[in-house]
Amino acid sequence: MNKQNLKIAVQKSGRLSEDSIDLLKTCGISFNNGSGKLKSVAQDFPLEIFFLRDDDIPEYVADGVADIGMVGENVLAEAEKDVEMCERLGFGKCRLALAVPKSFEYQSIKNLSGKRVATSYPKVLGRFLEKNDVTAEIHTISGSVEIAPSIGLADAVCDLVSSGSTLFTNNLREVEVVMTSEAVLIQRKNLAADLHTILEKLVFRIRAVKAARQNKYILLNAPNEKLEEIINILPGIKSPTVMPLAETGWSSVHSVINENDFWEIVESLKNKGAEGILVLSIDQMIS
Ligand code: ATP
Ligand code: ZN
Repeated sequence: MNKQNLKIAVQKSGRLSEDSIDLLKTCGISFNNGSGKLKSVAQDFPLEIFFLRDDDIPEYVADGVADIGMVGENVLAEAEKDVEMCERLGFGKCRLALAVPKSFEYQSIKNLSGKRVATSYPKVLGRFLEKNDVTAEIHTISGSVEIAPSIGLADAVCDLVSSGSTLFTNNLREVEVVMTSEAVLIQRKNLAADLHTILEKLVFRIRAVKAARQNKYILLNAPNEKLEEIINILPGIKSPTVMPLAETGWSSVHSVINENDFWEIVESLKNKGAEGILVLSIDQMIS
């Protein structure tokens, strides 16, 4: 009998496309994603990939056209579809924020009462305003929300922001965060057992890639009299590996460190007398 493939929907072209495809490939899944392709079958993993507009992904997954999908939490929150989130993916980080023209005298969200707010996320914004007891006019537009105030279409906007540079160039000031978002893996309800097994394998690999991305492999040479102090700086998964060097009085120390502590740790290692420090990226990390 022909084994079934798990079907995954990813964004066809946009901010999430490259990272979604890159994540699958780093999970050891090879497929052709040449431009214009709508669908591709992986060669070495039972996965079929559909390339779609991100807004359509929650619905395709809810309807079972795709079994799983990679999509921004913001799109998921707006779609209100009956799907389950199974894993955060660590990319596509942004926030949905309210912004007003620099000339707008803004003290609190109450200042938006009776104002016109342009957004592509009317449902998420509607819930946020309701929660804050504010009644405003929501104008739904599908793109270039940031220009709405300058053309007189709205008094404020609710749009996705990462660095804030788009707001800045449009003379807007961020005043409230409505929600924070990153790309997530979603699945449809009642996934058949054989497909669920494939999903578990995929999630296992995704977790290994995510863990690897958050960590670095570090190697260094340490004078033996400083070894104890140096080891104390390095956390390691269990504890650092220590091996004698050919040169007497020196050891080679290997460990794994978190990317966030990276510069601080390297600095203290140098101060303690470590030499020949090498830092390598990790492809996969299985705990
Ligand atoms: P599509 O053609 O698929 O509908 P789109 O134009 O709606 O694409 P993109 O701009 O490609 O969407 O953004 C896709 C997702 O990327 C967003 O929904 C959001 O989750 C995420 N994202 C991350 N950073 C940003 C940002 N600075 N601005 C907009 N979206 C961002
Ligand atoms: Zn979209």
